[in-house]
Amino acid sequence: MVSYPYALDNEGRVIPVRQAMSGAMYSCLACKERLVPRHGLQVEWHYYHYVSGDCTSSESSLHRITKRLIIAGVESARRAKTIYNAELTCTTCSTVIGRAEIKGVSHYALDEHYLTPKLRPDISFLAIDSDEPFGTVEVVVSSPPSPDALAEYQREKIWCLIVKPTWDTVWTLRNGIRTNEGINIDVKCSKCANTLGFTGKRWYPGTGNYRKRWRRRRPWS
Ligand SMILES: [Zn+2]
Ligand SMILES: [Zn+2]
Repeated sequence: MVSYPYALDNEGRVIPVRQAMSGAMYSCLACKERLVPRHGLQVEWHYYHYVSGDCTSSESSLHRITKRLIIAGVESARRAKTIYNAELTCTTCSTVIGRAEIKGVSHYALDEHYLTPKLRPDISFLAIDSDEPFGTVEVVVSSPPSPDALAEYQREKIWCLIVKPTWDTVWTLRNGIRTNEGINIDVKCSKCANTLGFTGKRWYPGTGNYRKRWRRRRPWS
């Protein structure tokens, strides 16, 4: 059984268990069933599924919770007028080598949104004023993006971070993304002798034309 440190309140906000009030209603980020906070002395504080004992989400609950937490993180950045950071680290030395700032005042996040008729990322970051895509996330729990999806990323040249959550790490996505895998991100580590660079080891685009309307939206340097 997995114990959850976060749940949704009746207004759809993501609430950490330390802020949960006994008697209030909470629901699971994945299956929407009732969760109850357990504040104990012997156990670490957590929510548990009141009826089923465990999550009954049909989609992988880890996959779904990952998406919800990223969206909640961007929404909370919007309310606080702060930034939700998406960071890429070196595969060799773990230094942060690239950062995309998802600004609460100018971006929002959607899940399962079609950017093109053939490209539907797990998460898309979009500009509030124009609805133009800024970047994307693919959540990899069991299988990597399909060859079709990779080909479409290659054609469209929009950047994508690959997030591989575990039950231990998923909750940090509320505050930002840090990963060492991505698509269409052409940066190299200046700190270590990783001469292959990030892109030499990972999914990497061939040549192709940036779509004009996306050309000016390249946060990576
Ligand atoms: Zn559940
Ligand atoms: Zn490095």
